[in-house]
Amino acid sequence: MAFPGWSATPAEKRSQIMLKIASMIESRMTELTEAECLDNGKPLWLARAVDIPRARDNFKFFATAILHEANEAHQTDHTAINYTYYTPVGVVGCISPWNLPLYLFTWKIAPAIAAGCCVVAKPSEVTPMTAYLLSEICKDAGLPAGVLNIVHGLGPKVGNAITEHPDIKAISFTGGTKTGAEIARKAAPVFKKLSLELGGKNPNIIFADCDFDAMLKTTIQSSFSNQGQICLCGSRIFVEESIYEKFKSAFVERVKELKVGDPLLEDTRVGAIVSKPHFEKILSYIELAKEEGGTILAGGNAVVPEGRCSNGYFIEPTVIDGLPYTCRTNQEEIFGPVVTITSFKNEEELLEMANSTMYGLSATIWTTNLQKAHRVAHNVHSGIIWINCWLLRDLRTPFGGMKSSGVGREGGFEALNFFREIKNICIKL
Ligand code: NDP
Repeated sequence: MAFPGWSATPAEKRSQIMLKIASMIESRMTELTEAECLDNGKPLWLARAVDIPRARDNFKFFATAILHEANEAHQTDHTAINYTYYTPVGVVGCISPWNLPLYLFTWKIAPAIAAGCCVVAKPSEVTPMTAYLLSEICKDAGLPAGVLNIVHGLGPKVGNAITEHPDIKAISFTGGTKTGAEIARKAAPVFKKLSLELGGKNPNIIFADCDFDAMLKTTIQSSFSNQGQICLCGSRIFVEESIYEKFKSAFVERVKELKVGDPLLEDTRVGAIVSKPHFEKILSYIELAKEEGGTILAGGNAVVPEGRCSNGYFIEPTVIDGLPYTCRTNQEEIFGPVVTITSFKNEEELLEMANSTMYGLSATIWTTNLQKAHRVAHNVHSGIIWINCWLLRDLRTPFGGMKSSGVGREGGFEALNFFREIKNICIKL
C-alpha cells in the first residue's frame, strides 16, 4: 500500500526525511551505542566510534546522493537518442547479520528507501535491539507508515518468508555463504534480483619492505577488531620469509597485551563472542588447528572474566603458525579472534596461497614498493583491496566479493541501482 506513494514522493522530500533519521540517530547516540554493546558484546568504545556513527552516515550518504544524480544518454550517430530511465523495483527484502547489527542493517535500508522502494527488513534475531530502536526513530522522523517494515524472528522462518514472498522483488542479503546459497536457490526460479554479501577468509599480505610499525599496529586491528567477527578481518596473515621471525615475535608480544573482558570498560580491546553456539564453533576450530599440526603462539583458550561478565563467552586473541595453507583451518571461515601466520618466499608462492580458498572478499597488502603493490593487488582474487591500510571506507566505492564471497556490489550508485529497474528509451531523430 505504501509503495506507490513513497516511490512518487519527490527525491528532495525523501532526502529530508532520511536526513532527519540521521540526525535522530546522532541525538540518540548514547542509547544506541549501549544497546549495540550489550546486545552484541562488542566493546562500547567501538560501537561509539564505528557502528552507530556509520549507521547515521549511511542515511546521510544516500539521502544526499539522490539529490546529485544525472541520467545517462547515448546518441546513436544522427539516427536516434537513447536515455536511461530509472524506477524503483518495488517492495524489497533486506536481511542482515549480527556482527555489525545497525551498521549493516542501515547499509541496505538507506539505499533502498532513497531509491523509492518500500522495505521488509529483518535483523538477526541474535542482535535485534538497535533495529527496534531504529523503528522508533523512523516513525518519529516522519517516515510514512509501511515504507520500512522491520520484522523480527529467526532466519529459517521469517528470513525464509521474505525470500519466498512473491511480492518481494529483490533481496539484499548479508550473512553466511551457506545461507546465501539457500536464498539464491529459492530466488532463482522467480528471477528475484539478488545482492549477496557473504563470507570471507581474507589474506593479509606483508612484504619485507613495508612500514613495519604502521603494519603491526593495523594488523592487530585487522585481526581482532570486533573479536575478529568482521567479514573483512584478515584471518590469514602471509609474511615474507626474511621478516617472518621478526614479525612473529613482535606480533605475538602485542597480541598478548590485548585486554579481553567486559565490553563496557574503556580499556577492553577484545569483548565477548556474540553467542554460545558461535563461541563453541570458534573453540572447535582452535582444537582443529591443533589436530592439523598447528602451534598456538598466543591465546587458544576461553577466558572467564571476574564480575559482571563471568558467565559470558570470551576467547583470547589467538595466533597459530605451522599450518599448511590447504588445511581446513586455513580454508574455512572461523569468524572469531583467530589468525594463522604463514611465511612466503616469493610472489608466485604467495598468490598461490592467497587465492587458494573458495572466498574472495577482501585483502590487505603491506609494501612501500608501488609497482609491487599494484601488481599484487591486480592478481589477488578479492573484490576489495587495501594497500597499507585496512577498513578505510569511502561509501561511494563498490563493496563486495568474488567467488563464494558474494554476488553484486553494494555502495554508491551500485547500491541505488540495485533497488531500481533500469529502462532504455530510444527515440528516432
Ligand atoms: P547467517 O547467514 O546465519 O545469518 C544472516 C542473516 O540471515 C540473519 O538475519 C539470519 O537470521 C538470516 N537467515 C538465516 N537463515 C536464513 C534463511 N534460511 N533464509 C533467510 N534468512 C536467513 O550469518 P551470520 O548471522 O552467522 O553472520 C555471519 C556471516 O555473515 C559470516 O559468514 C560473515 O562473513 C558474513 N558477513 C558478510 C559480510 C559481507 O559484507 N560480505 C559482512 C558481515 C558478515 P537469524 O540470525 O535471526 O537466524
